Amino acid sequence: MSGKDAAKRGKIAVWWDMKDCPVPDGIDAHRVRPSIEGGFRELGYSGPVSIRAYGDHKQTSEHQLRALSSTGVAVVHIRSESTCAVMYMDMVKWREDNPPPATMMIITNQMLDVFNWDLSRLQQRTFYHLFLASSVRPRAALTVGCRKEWLWEKLLLGTTAAVTSSADTADDAVFHCKTCSLDCLSLQSFKKHLSTKNHALEEVLRPQPKQLISVTSKWGKNYAATPEYAAAKIHVWWDMFCCPIPDGYDARRVRPSLEGAFKELGYSGHVSITAYGDHKQTPECHLQALSSTGIDVAHVIPEVIYSRMSRDWKTWQDDNPAPATMMFISDDAEYFFGDTLVWGQQNNKYNLFRAYSYRPLKMSVLLTSAEWLWDSLLAVSETKKHVLRKCSGSSIERVGKSTGMFYCKVCFTKRKLLDKFMKHLWTFNHISEVSILSLSFFLLSIHLSNHFREKQEVDISELGQRNKNQRLLYLEASVFLNDKFLTDFTTETPTLFFFSFCRKLISQRASG
Ligand SMILES: [Zn+2]
Ligand SMILES: [Zn+2]
Repeated sequence: MSGKDAAKRGKIAVWWDMKDCPVPDGIDAHRVRPSIEGGFRELGYSGPVSIRAYGDHKQTSEHQLRALSSTGVAVVHIRSESTCAVMYMDMVKWREDNPPPATMMIITNQMLDVFNWDLSRLQQRTFYHLFLASSVRPRAALTVGCRKEWLWEKLLLGTTAAVTSSADTADDAVFHCKTCSLDCLSLQSFKKHLSTKNHALEEVLRPQPKQLISVTSKWGKNYAATPEYAAAKIHVWWDMFCCPIPDGYDARRVRPSLEGAFKELGYSGHVSITAYGDHKQTPECHLQALSSTGIDVAHVIPEVIYSRMSRDWKTWQDDNPAPATMMFISDDAEYFFGDTLVWGQQNNKYNLFRAYSYRPLKMSVLLTSAEWLWDSLLAVSETKKHVLRKCSGSSIERVGKSTGMFYCKVCFTKRKLLDKFMKHLWTFNHISEVSILSLSFFLLSIHLSNHFREKQEVDISELGQRNKNQRLLYLEASVFLNDKFLTDFTTETPTLFFFSFCRKLISQRASG
């Protein structure tokens, strides 16, 4: 039985915020369970479903409570302001008691604002199939990957499954007061309890948390390698714009410094490194030194570095399935493709490392097992005798032969030797490719800023999407550049239009 099949037959646990998503007028509360089960059955999920309905049940009608409990829905009383926090504590506890494969469903309108960050990180470590229902669609994309997002009312009006026999759900079908940790077996005793003085006193004396208690923000940094990853490959994508080689530092020390830091945590797998930068600006002795230690050198311009890196790590993932470690040395990589990584990590399970030139202000939604400051990482194995005073012609001979490749990620070409590579960077073809890219990104940025300025009323959901759209455009552009046949002027996408326009403009000038 494959993992996917196992999950489809595994338990399904549902946490339902009845304040956000009440049973709409005109819909019988008896429909809730069969509708949820019907939704899952349609998607091929056949496991037993347990449902917990959270709310201030002093306000819920007896008719609804009876309908819910008679269909095996557990009723949980909690003050409204604590619903999310308490639901989340219960989810975390459930995850501890119920290892995957299993399925979680959350019925809430607070996925984006409350649950998204912590749940995204939890899911990167321990992956469950996740489903969402809400009465209002989230106004921006979630980083937590949901297999399906239902509209609550639509789900309730959809296909219904036959109600599970009460024997399967009897354990759950109770009335529970969270504040008093009290189970009531009948609706009568539950209603009676909620009106007692003791209950009112407990609500004052033992208030439940109102804010979500993050589980993952306390997770430390730089964990020792787990056996799965200890000997696995490590690939490093290094953004030299953000994290350059410090003045006076011997570039030959980069690889041993990184490897030394990995070894300290127990990682001994083969390390490959690609150094992205504007290598017309990088001293040749650094390029030769990097290459002599087997580091691949990749020439990019700032406009395309993240689309090229992103293309490269996706290709690398195709050739190197997990377990393996991916490392990003960059301050901005997360901004450009962090969300894509977070989504991927909820399925792929690569081990992640990061390094940056300064500590980010906010903890990332991307779950890593180790993070370093670039300068301190380089210092790991630095000794005075390895530090060159400055680049000189003779140092090129001293650093030894190249073993890494030299890539031009603008023209998608590569050279084995440094001098051939440097020659390429000064060819007409290369320079015109750079002009096409720079000019089209310049036009694209004007187009985007006009587009957003012209909008009189800026829709919040659009602002939320804006960065994502820009990122998509970058990626789109990179896809275009790889496809030499796609030069259609009539395409609707502005990026493609600008690339096409600039390509034609520059080739006309070249031939004229
Ligand atoms: Zn109580
Ligand atoms: Zn080139």
